[in-house]
Amino acid sequence: MNLKLMPENNTIFDCIVIGTGMAGYTASIYLSRYKVTNLIIGNVVGGQASEAHKIENYPGIRSISGFELAQKFNDHAKDLGAEIQLDTVTKVAKLDKLYEVSTASGKRFYSKTLLITTGKKRRKLGLKEEDKFMGKGLTYCTTCDGPFYKDKVVAVIGGSDAANSSSIYLSEIAQKVYQIYRGEKLRGEQAWIDQVHKAKNIEVLFNTNVIAINGRDKLESIDIDAKFNSSNNIVVDGLFIEIGAIPDPTIPKQLNIKLDDEDYIVVDQTQATSTEGIWAAGDITTASNKYAQIVTAAGEAALAARSIFEYLQKITIDK
Ligand SMILES: Cc1cc2nc3c(=O)[nH]c(=O)nc-3n(C[C@H](O)[C@H](O)[C@H](O)COP(=O)(O)OP(=O)(O)OC[C@H]3O[C@@H](n4cnc5c(N)ncnc54)[C@H](O)[C@@H]3O)c2cc1C
Repeated sequence: MNLKLMPENNTIFDCIVIGTGMAGYTASIYLSRYKVTNLIIGNVVGGQASEAHKIENYPGIRSISGFELAQKFNDHAKDLGAEIQLDTVTKVAKLDKLYEVSTASGKRFYSKTLLITTGKKRRKLGLKEEDKFMGKGLTYCTTCDGPFYKDKVVAVIGGSDAANSSSIYLSEIAQKVYQIYRGEKLRGEQAWIDQVHKAKNIEVLFNTNVIAINGRDKLESIDIDAKFNSSNNIVVDGLFIEIGAIPDPTIPKQLNIKLDDEDYIVVDQTQATSTEGIWAAGDITTASNKYAQIVTAAGEAALAARSIFEYLQKITIDK
């Protein structure tokens, strides 16, 4: 490799894992057991899973908060020797045979291989006032902000698992929950749907879209495109947007990695991307038929780790 490009005394990791979600931690656990030196860089411990109020479909654990499960993944990876940096990756570049990963805090790290597990980020509604009310009555994280709405009136936007579980969680805190959904019936796990319909203080408004968010210094009401109690306006203290998530193509684009038309990283059966030396796992990929779950993220990550181990063995033999 071209040593001039790299600062002296810098560790070269066998693999840098980008993303501290469930895929990233799982990969690290497997890599460490293969004795593949690894560094995980991520900015939210546990990623999306850490926002889940309750996780009740992770095998072997009947019910656990997402935050607690994320901590367990983090501790497991750490115990097995992973180095973890809580930081944001801003740039990734190929330097001859190594990858250089730069972070927001100005650090640089080097590795022989890369594993991208950057997951997905929350989808926004796309309304004009969305950013203005962010943190002032509007939120994308129910478990983070739900406790602030004790005995208040709130609205949840969305109709699948994330929205359904948010409504259930909020129904235990708030006085009233309006769940506003553009579709005709709720989607996702029937267990969540049944709980939504059973809760006395959740009212689901179907075939309805939020078209404006109103208030002076903080959110006061929302406008909808259908009539509710003869009005197009609902007074609420809080608005929880739970309309899914989308992949961020920034890092894969820096590395010329092939994406599908929705910006998911295209991977093969070994979790390899189109670029040699780079793998991807979890919600960011086309694998598992895009069934975005903790078990699928973990499964893909285990497979990616094995593929990386085999690749590293091969390049060592070929040298
Ligand atoms: C509210 C909610 C409830 C859910 N409930 C369940 C459930 O009950 N059961 C279930 O199986 N699944 C559930 N899911 C889905 C599950 O959480 C995800 O499918 C899974 O956690 C995806 O893991 P991941 O590691 O692929 O991605 P993510 O969780 O998205 O993690 C990606 C990580 O990468 C980091 N990252 C991204 N870009 C950068 C960057 N440039 N630099 C540094 N770090 C970066 C992120 O901060 C994050 O830490 C839920 C999701 C949500 C949002």
